[in-house]
Amino acid sequence: MDQQTQATKFEVEKIRRDFPILNRKVNGYPLVYFDNAATSQTPRQVIDTIVDYYSNYNANIHRGVHALSQEATDKYEQARQKVQKHFNAVKSYEIIFTSGTTHGINLVASGFAAELQKGDEILVSAMEHHSNIVPWQMLAQKTGAILKVIPMDEKGELIFSEFEKLVSSKTKLIFVNHVSNALGTVNPVKEIISLAHENGAAVLVDGAQAAPHIKADVQDLDADFYVASAHKMCGPTGVGMLYGKEKWLNKLPPYQGGGEMIATVTFEKTTYADLPHKFEAGTPNICGGIAFGAAIDYMEKIGFDTIAAYEHELLEYATIKLKEIDGMKIYGEAAEKTAVISFNIEGLHPYDIGTLLDKMGIAVRTGHHCAQPVMDFFKIPGTVRASFAFYNTFEEIDRFVEGVKKAKMMLQ
Ligand SMILES: *Cc1c(COP(=O)(O)O)cnc(C)c1O
Repeated sequence: MDQQTQATKFEVEKIRRDFPILNRKVNGYPLVYFDNAATSQTPRQVIDTIVDYYSNYNANIHRGVHALSQEATDKYEQARQKVQKHFNAVKSYEIIFTSGTTHGINLVASGFAAELQKGDEILVSAMEHHSNIVPWQMLAQKTGAILKVIPMDEKGELIFSEFEKLVSSKTKLIFVNHVSNALGTVNPVKEIISLAHENGAAVLVDGAQAAPHIKADVQDLDADFYVASAHKMCGPTGVGMLYGKEKWLNKLPPYQGGGEMIATVTFEKTTYADLPHKFEAGTPNICGGIAFGAAIDYMEKIGFDTIAAYEHELLEYATIKLKEIDGMKIYGEAAEKTAVISFNIEGLHPYDIGTLLDKMGIAVRTGHHCAQPVMDFFKIPGTVRASFAFYNTFEEIDRFVEGVKKAKMMLQ
């Protein structure tokens, strides 16, 4: 492939050998996995970490004096430090292990109930995932705060001048995703945070879709909160991270009560444990946390700059090829976007295209992508979404584009 010679010196075939699932066939064809924005695939190094945990040192953490418990505790806390270093938090206890992005957002939303008063304003962007809309609606209902929306334009970019008009001393909290899962838009979160802070508002950044592609630096961004899920960055499901500035984590009340999160308990009064344990009630996903650390090691070894450069070439190549198809409409053409292509073909239903692609062994997502307001903006019920990862190839894109053409012929 001539495209591959243009690509960065990226040994994609070698990398693909790390992912056992990429060898399998689906409906008689070698799998083409283009649903990475929903969940990423898992390399052998992460799978081995999970097998090693259950084979060699499975034990409950932070309480046992015995060897296995101490080993598991050490590995779990080392994983927290890996997450801390990766996102560049000042302290490791500013990293709370969660069950995923949704959990992290709900933890913050619940904690903010005591901080908000009737008439306070909270801002959310027009391109959020449902998990970064619904918890804030619930919070607004509970507190009487007013939820306002930062609008976007036809290209799928937030309108910054409208944001400047919306933000004021009444604004207490702002929620915005770093990257939109429906459109791939990279949002100017650093600028948003800077203006928010000038007005005294805190910002939670939903990094679920950014984390697989961009190495976010929470200190550089000056984010108050940053959340992500391991399963979108080569880790297992059921584990994620919440970064919070120490001052906020100390201020917010615990989300759940239980074991691990207490200092002392009597029937009259309980005092809470220090960070991060205050927010980690009960036995956590120990193996998941350790495997999350292994996933970060794996991706960092390849290098996030290398990953981003290669994925960008995949994105450009696929965009050009898809645009050659008659009736093709791509949603989300922001100047800065990650390797996500949301599209429709005139007169065809996205679900039908997705179903036919699956028959050819090609996995894409169809529907509203948990972002119904984005679909409403474009006045469509949904899209077909192809999202790429660093283990995808130009050949797979050729097969995908041929598949879309074939589906179009069959459906018209
Ligand atoms: C996937 C995703 C979420 C939800 O993540 P979970 O792992 O399901 O909790 C939230 N926001 C964005 C932008 C996402 O892509």
